[in-house]
Amino acid sequence: MIGAWEESLNQVLMRYGVTKETLQGNAAEELESALQEYHDLAQQYGDMLTVFCYEAKPLLRSGIWLCPKCEKRIQYGHTHCHWCGKKIGWAGTRRM
Ligand SMILES: [Zn+2]
Repeated sequence: MIGAWEESLNQVLMRYGVTKETLQGNAAEELESALQEYHDLAQQYGDMLTVFCYEAKPLLRSGIWLCPKCEKRIQYGHTHCHWCGKKIGWAGTRRM
């Protein structure tokens, strides 16, 4: 199966009318490596945004508030989970 970064590489190569075989030296490997790094960084950045910037409603079990991500106990009103850093959205909830 072709990965997203391989598809990106092929699109770049097609745009400039080159193939992996016509690139000089190890340019193809360097390009692939750079694209893979960008792809990984984009994935990590997206994951960090999901955890730290996008809030989720806390879980309520037996009168105890739990983090929606790691499900550990959290204090009412705290903006982020003390354990995993997940941003918590308290709108529409009330202190128990
Ligand atoms: Zn958590």
